[in-house]
Amino acid sequence: MSDFLLPRFAQLDPYVPGEQPQDRQYVKLNTNESPFPPSPRVMDALSREAIARLNLYPDPLAKTLRETIALEYAVSPEQVFVSNGSDDVLGFAFMAYADQTHGVTIPEVSYGFYQVYAKRYQIQPTVVPLNEDFTLPVEKFLRQNQLVAFANPNAPTSLAMPLGDVERIIAENPRGVVLVDEAYVDYGGETSIPLLAKYPNLLIVRTFSKSRSLAGGRLGYALASPALIEDLDRMKNTFNPYSVNSLTMVAGIEAMRDHAYFDACVASTCKQRAVSAAELRSLGFRVLDSATNFLFAAAPGMDGLRYYQKLKERGVLVRYLNQPTLRQFVRITVGSEAQMRALTDATRDILKEETV
Ligand code: PMP
Repeated sequence: MSDFLLPRFAQLDPYVPGEQPQDRQYVKLNTNESPFPPSPRVMDALSREAIARLNLYPDPLAKTLRETIALEYAVSPEQVFVSNGSDDVLGFAFMAYADQTHGVTIPEVSYGFYQVYAKRYQIQPTVVPLNEDFTLPVEKFLRQNQLVAFANPNAPTSLAMPLGDVERIIAENPRGVVLVDEAYVDYGGETSIPLLAKYPNLLIVRTFSKSRSLAGGRLGYALASPALIEDLDRMKNTFNPYSVNSLTMVAGIEAMRDHAYFDACVASTCKQRAVSAAELRSLGFRVLDSATNFLFAAAPGMDGLRYYQKLKERGVLVRYLNQPTLRQFVRITVGSEAQMRALTDATRDILKEETV
């Protein structure tokens, strides 16, 4: 860090993403990526001709991409915002709606970036602990009348909140924006999209990084009332008007249009999730009911850190989150059948070693 950095930035704790070690080949189940490559339509569209247009700036309005997303979810293009990954969308939302005098309410256990953004914008967040069963205490999110942000399904718990509860939070915060992060919704959550017609304060944030297999392309979007979308565009256009590059725009359009591939990838992950959860449970694990592409699981007779370390020694990477209420758990991305076999084989080996 240099001596020139503003003091308020010197104190920030940057978000620490899942490790990407280069020392050996791991079975990588730690960052909730899709195990499947992008749609073949994406591969075909990223042609030499698309590359040849890289001398030109991308469309700052991302018109075709916004229209494609709007068509998919039966909203108008004025209700769609796109940017460089949903992290970027979340960043603009915090920038637009929270500061030192306008707070934010977030769950204590949720996507770690919410707390990072809060600090980044010098917001003192209202942090709500989860219930003992890891569900969200809905009452504590009512009548906040400031930005309220949570993920549904939640991460890393993998649990989905019923739409009725989400609606109560939106309805009972009429003077605050309610941000519902639906990064994992395609794997079994109930989307809040039907509520858009009723609530001008609802902001849904989504990503192409999981169910659309485009984490490397960095593409996220928001669905909301035209007024909220205008706010996000205002933030983007005073910060980085070309936040989606032209190759990613092409990739996103094709990924969104390829329904058959999307359905097949999601179905395959959900099937594998059921198989792996059952297998881990049969080995004595506690596994929460996942509505996502990951499992939140506690090993028998071993804390999360030890299980994580033992898996890593065997070449399998999962995510351990060093938070007081999560000590028993690890977060395991649902990978391909072969990757999950590697996980359960390594787990059997670890459990055997622990009992001798
Ligand atoms: N929201 C949640 C709940 C996430 O878990 C993640 C990343 N894993 C993101 C948003 C950000 O995803 P991206 O920036 O790749 O769209």
